[in-house]
Amino acid sequence: MSSLTITQLTVNRSKLLLRIILAGILLPCLMIFGGCKGRQLVRSTPQMDIEPRFWVRVLLVDETRTCSLKITSPFYVSDGVPQVQRIIHFDRVDVPINVSISSGKIAVAGQPFTSNEIIISPDEPHIFNLNGDDYRGKLKLIVAADGESFDAINLVPPEPYLAGVIGAEMPDYWELAALQAQAIAARTYCLYIKEHFGSGRTWDVRKTAANQVYLGVGAESAQVWNAVNRTYGRVLVCRHPDGTEGLFPTYYSSTCGGHTENSKHVFGDSFEPLVGVACPYCKDVAKIDIFFWPMIQFDKTYVTTRLLQKYPKLKQLGEITDISPAGQSNYQTDYGKFSRLTSVKLLGSTGKSDFLRAEDFRLSIDPSGWKLRSTICRIINMGEKWAFSAGRGWGHGVGMCQCGAQGMARQGKTAEQILSYYYPGSWIERVY
Ligand SMILES: [Zn+2]
Repeated sequence: MSSLTITQLTVNRSKLLLRIILAGILLPCLMIFGGCKGRQLVRSTPQMDIEPRFWVRVLLVDETRTCSLKITSPFYVSDGVPQVQRIIHFDRVDVPINVSISSGKIAVAGQPFTSNEIIISPDEPHIFNLNGDDYRGKLKLIVAADGESFDAINLVPPEPYLAGVIGAEMPDYWELAALQAQAIAARTYCLYIKEHFGSGRTWDVRKTAANQVYLGVGAESAQVWNAVNRTYGRVLVCRHPDGTEGLFPTYYSSTCGGHTENSKHVFGDSFEPLVGVACPYCKDVAKIDIFFWPMIQFDKTYVTTRLLQKYPKLKQLGEITDISPAGQSNYQTDYGKFSRLTSVKLLGSTGKSDFLRAEDFRLSIDPSGWKLRSTICRIINMGEKWAFSAGRGWGHGVGMCQCGAQGMARQGKTAEQILSYYYPGSWIERVY
């Protein structure tokens, strides 16, 4: 046998082995995901038959006059209230469709609808593309009161909603236990917000960090779905101050800096699991320039302008001439003391002063939070500028520390142990 033949045989054996391995991987994948969209595997949306009371209404776009829609399956549009509902089927698939508003009426692909609310329901796999991003479930369009614009709201069952959140809120290559803890915290948070704030408006959550970041199908992965499926329907509950038991706002943030914060100082609400705990876990997970962030400066006129935009009541202060700590939480950790500002005093050129919660102050100046990353910092008057130095941690610091969750998971802790550590006094229940 020549070396060429041996090589050929080896190659053939390798190819065969590769085919067996690929078949072993791809066949179960195809069975799980149930279909192909070009080269991309698309999992059909689960839970389309779950009770609508659990569905999450995500505000995707507000007050727009037009948007672009693309759906790869046939779909139908429901127009009007159920008793006199008109259902129009569309077989035109995979072609960009213009949705617009004219004289207070929404038109889909030039077809006008009479009611102020329409629902677009794609067939299997129940996915639509709005302005370039894929989302699961249905799309509701609601005409604004002035008839000039409309809101686009994604109606989505909770588990596929979470699949679009977890990968946006946490790297999907992190430990499964951390992803599972994130899934339970995110499920609890969205159902709590829905329960407490959704009834008075047409949507439950925004798709931004104002609630939790939701990127739809683009944020999904096998790891994310695994974490969602393994925690199916599980939420955190606690005893409320009034003695009842129920969901609570399971806030979480990136890197607490060594100790999580009492929610009372940041969001003004009081729940036993949100009083704050020492966190020795995030320091070894967060990058060093995140754990200790560099000094950042802002022009004083910029700071005054941003604050007045958000809080018109501050106009009576004139130019802001001094910013000083008015409240802070002091912590002693294994690697040094630190303080988180909880309240700041603003003194103005008119001689008047006012107070803001430190977290509100931070997000007024830097809504993205990418520069002024936390309120664990010192404020320095630099003449023309305000400098924020000795920064530590990222985010509001309340509830679960995400880097800390990963640190605990690396040490072998389970999702349940992570959650009971960061939300002491809470326990897990199933809602569906
Ligand atoms: Zn931490």
